[in-house]
Amino acid sequence: MDNLIKGWEVVIGLEVHAQISTDTKLFSQSSTAFGSDPNTQVSFYDAAMPGMLPVLNEKAIDLAIKTGLGIKGTVNKISRFDRKNYFYPDLPSGYQISQLYHPIITDGVITIEQQDGTSKEIRVERIHVEQDAGKSVHDLSPDCSYVDLNRSGTPLMEIVSRPDMRSSYEAMQYVKKLRTILRYIGSSDCNMDQGNLRVDANISIHKPGTPFGNRVEIKNINSIKFLGQALDYEIERQIIAQEMGEEIHQETRLFDSAKCETRTMRSKENAEDYRYFPDPDLKPVILTDARIEKMKSEMPELPDEKMARFINDYRLTQSDAKVLTEEIETADCFERAVKASKNKPEDSAKLIANWIIVELFAILNKENKTLQEISFPIENIAELVDLILDKTINGKIAKTVFAEMTQNGKKPKEIINELGLVQIQDDKTIRDAIKNVIANSPQQVEQYKQGKEQLFGFFVGQTMKALQGKGNPELINKILKEEL
Ligand code: ADP
Ligand code: MG
Repeated sequence: MDNLIKGWEVVIGLEVHAQISTDTKLFSQSSTAFGSDPNTQVSFYDAAMPGMLPVLNEKAIDLAIKTGLGIKGTVNKISRFDRKNYFYPDLPSGYQISQLYHPIITDGVITIEQQDGTSKEIRVERIHVEQDAGKSVHDLSPDCSYVDLNRSGTPLMEIVSRPDMRSSYEAMQYVKKLRTILRYIGSSDCNMDQGNLRVDANISIHKPGTPFGNRVEIKNINSIKFLGQALDYEIERQIIAQEMGEEIHQETRLFDSAKCETRTMRSKENAEDYRYFPDPDLKPVILTDARIEKMKSEMPELPDEKMARFINDYRLTQSDAKVLTEEIETADCFERAVKASKNKPEDSAKLIANWIIVELFAILNKENKTLQEISFPIENIAELVDLILDKTINGKIAKTVFAEMTQNGKKPKEIINELGLVQIQDDKTIRDAIKNVIANSPQQVEQYKQGKEQLFGFFVGQTMKALQGKGNPELINKILKEEL
């Protein structure tokens, strides 16, 4: 019960809209590419011309099935599309096609990490497939609005959680984890900048032991940071209102990210207001066992499984394994480097993880790059780690090499040779240098032999100088004693 604020418990449920990664729309052949000129990706169907009929995009259904499997949900063999009727200028047909009564997926679960590091399961009530609406453009002209229908009919999954989250932190973790899973599966890019992932957050407060309070829905939040800010603002607003004896009404609010506050948009509609009914132009979606099995066989290793494997096989800490598995590309890079190392994974993996998480991520952050944009092969990190493990270079020199390697893309060995960073370990080179020094300093040798032992340091210095500072000091000492 540490989540209580002034005796109030916060209850949050999220509806996440994720654009399904298909090239074409849910019921037409128009492209879903982002950033094209307005109204260039609109078929007669998308513009709701009379008599046009929908043709279901089976790829979108496949990806929804995989998403359901990815959250351990039930894949329903029969689902069905309904019309949700409402008027809006960006919705030329006057209805959105969605799945209210028979969604394709029910009862999944997403495991999140709480602030104290322990995990918690958040239940997912349903995933339904639906089409997106177009976009009204209000800022092109002072006296009229425009409509862009490019987005009209783009396939979405609406992923509805149960009201299982108890803080803004948990809500943010949930969206992050969901995003990780969708990206692993490849069912959505989840690019929040492109409106690819949008969140409606439902939030209420109540005293533990009493029924849940009325929920407020904050619509269309397009970043995880804003989600946290919107919820924190709303939690405070609801607590103050309740403490002042005001009632919280069920309503829809908007988050103003500039002012960092939520504002009333409209009182909440109920399902009846939309006059839902089954779409007469679309058959129910009937899934065969074979199709579901095929999707199962195409499933990638999921983030939680990968994390457990990294901890087990590579002896990584939980936090390192979590960071490395958040993006599938990072996990792949790490494993490629581990494979490239000449050392056994139990010796090299931890070091490789550390170089990636600490040093490489610092550079990526500074240069605002992603892992895919680095200009050197990740295998070079394995080579660097191998050079540390076989004692060719020490940790300090390794940092110099790493800095060079990330800038110029050269291999660590090349850099070490060019900059002459290798320690001279070889007996003969050192012995030759020492013999030279002895031959050139007869006076000092004489004095040393008569007992002036402090001259030993002089010989070490001369030898080191002859070797340009790269001699191995232990070897120089040892061989000097022999030769003198
Ligand atoms: P609608 O589409 O009308 O918003 P949904 O059933 O699709 O309704 O979504 C309801 C969402 O609100 C779910 O995510 C659910 O977990 C959440 N929710 C339901 N009751 C509460 C409550 N009392 N407090 C906070 N969230 C709630
Ligand atoms: Mg809703």
